[in-house]
Amino acid sequence: MLLLRNRGLLSLQVTSLLSSSSSSSSQATPPFFLCFKNTLFHSTHQNPSPKPKPKPQTQHHVSASKTEKQAISDTARFAQTFLFVPPGVDPEEVTDDMVLPGSNIVLGPYAGHAQIKEVEFVKSSSRPKDCPKDDRPEFAILGRSNVGKSSLINALVRKKEVALTSKKPGKTQLINHFLVNKSWYIVDLPGYGFAKAPESARMDWSAFTKGYFLNRATLVAVLLLIDASVPPQKIDLDCANWLGRNNIPMTFVFTKCDKMKGGKGKRPDENIKNFQVMMGQNYGKHPPWIMTSSVTGLGRDELLLHMSQLRNYWDN
Ligand code: GDP
Repeated sequence: MLLLRNRGLLSLQVTSLLSSSSSSSSQATPPFFLCFKNTLFHSTHQNPSPKPKPKPQTQHHVSASKTEKQAISDTARFAQTFLFVPPGVDPEEVTDDMVLPGSNIVLGPYAGHAQIKEVEFVKSSSRPKDCPKDDRPEFAILGRSNVGKSSLINALVRKKEVALTSKKPGKTQLINHFLVNKSWYIVDLPGYGFAKAPESARMDWSAFTKGYFLNRATLVAVLLLIDASVPPQKIDLDCANWLGRNNIPMTFVFTKCDKMKGGKGKRPDENIKNFQVMMGQNYGKHPPWIMTSSVTGLGRDELLLHMSQLRNYWDN
């Protein structure tokens, strides 16, 4: 039944979720089915610069009694349920070579230049309406306080101390815009869920940041950071559900994947699997997700490639 070769976590996730795929696939379209600019990804998307199509894998684990037609539609169903299939890619033709390592993200024809040559801090805005108005595409980086947001931003741009987000509860929270290669923005948003913050401070965060999400026309996607070194946290699930309900495209970026726990604590791959299962209970399809570590550099280049394909499609 498995259609992709073993790929560590991906196959782990697939094995554990496959049993629910048949029931979930019959559910109504979930609010964030691989969505991107509120558009569903379909095989009908036009490929802007057609590339030679990869040959279908021959080593699929399909029972001999199945017809080739049935096997192909299983492939497509699998791809559409568990993988992020970008525009320009036919779900029928997804092969494991097209999936970025440590993720469920299929790389498509829109992926391009993924290097960061220069980055400059542009401004901090205290209100969504004060954000830059030049219509460049942007990615918002969001996560619980201490999730590793500053570290990830610094690792992405390969500079120390680029991310200046205030970390103190109660201190003014700002939307920070960083211009990359003079063409797109990384947006550093205030972290949520300060353990010691009073309820009022959390509500402030909510009104402020939700206003940004709901009104920012140039937002390509939210990178929702999830700490893979701890079990799934309700506040992260709530945040993901809120974004999903509001049709805001998101990618789960699992951080601290280098932290291999011994003893009682679960390993990052187990925490990630549990997070996916909890998300899968609410929604049948999975948003893009990727494993990263700011310590080892795991996932950095892959995440930038993923961002490039989202950006280039958005630009089109
Ligand atoms: P922020 O509050 O979300 O901006 O989190 P920081 O980037 O300041 O990181 C919080 C803590 O987690 C710091 O002690 C970091 O050194 C640590 N940290 C961040 N990213 C990683 C990672 O990928 N691996 C490990 N092992 N630690 C990390």
